[in-house]
Amino acid sequence: MMYKIKSCPRCQVGDVFGSSDEYGAYEQCFQCGWVNYGDKVLSQKEAEAEKLEAVGSKDRRGRR
Ligand SMILES: [Zn+2]
Repeated sequence: MMYKIKSCPRCQVGDVFGSSDEYGAYEQCFQCGWVNYGDKVLSQKEAEAEKLEAVGSKDRRGRR
């Protein structure tokens, strides 16, 4: 478990700890309750859709 003293972006003085649950890794502030799921908030379904979209746009860009 990661632990960052006084690195909360919301309250500035809160201690942030990193952990993970069924939705993926996240950071949370002890003092104000701020939670950051980073870029891993996506569900499996959304992740799949995102992947397809990324491939599509990349392909489109490559042809131009
Ligand atoms: Zn905080």
